[in-house]
Amino acid sequence: MNFCSKCGSDNIHLMLEQERFVRYICKACNTTHYRNPLIVVGCLPIYENKLLLCQRGIQPRKGYWNLPAGFMEMNETVTQGALREAKEETGLDMELVRLHSMYTSRKKNQVMLHFLAKVNDLNYQLNEETVAIQLFDFEAIPWDQLAFHSNTFAIQNYLASLQDSTPKVFIGDSFKEN
Ligand SMILES: [Zn+2]
Repeated sequence: MNFCSKCGSDNIHLMLEQERFVRYICKACNTTHYRNPLIVVGCLPIYENKLLLCQRGIQPRKGYWNLPAGFMEMNETVTQGALREAKEETGLDMELVRLHSMYTSRKKNQVMLHFLAKVNDLNYQLNEETVAIQLFDFEAIPWDQLAFHSNTFAIQNYLASLQDSTPKVFIGDSFKEN
């Protein structure tokens, strides 16, 4: 952060609050500029007992398989955001079943929410962001080609919970880069 978004001054000082949190404070107008984690919303799409994954056409992790997800926009709900991202990346109108997992990446400062989603048809569309879409049998998940650790977390817990009678939300976290 180089300039104050309130007064335009470049006199911004970095402070450590109680040795725990970094704060950027403008010395001209005294505004504290908070920086907080971003929310990523997405889907864990299931079509007839198969997992739908998108192959990324852009960086980061170009060429790796990903659950459709992206940054939540202003003025939308988490469910609207998850459905919008799924539509943007696959062209499909998915049906949200429930919240499946919540994952904090402390390295990227992001919170990822993945919703279990039902895919009703395969009239998908590829685009710059998604260069391939594939259905994977649960025994054939490309674990070493998954784009992000949040994918691994969501999918592993989904498979492990298939026999559970009571659905639950899985909560995880990591310091890993991906
Ligand atoms: Zn200022």
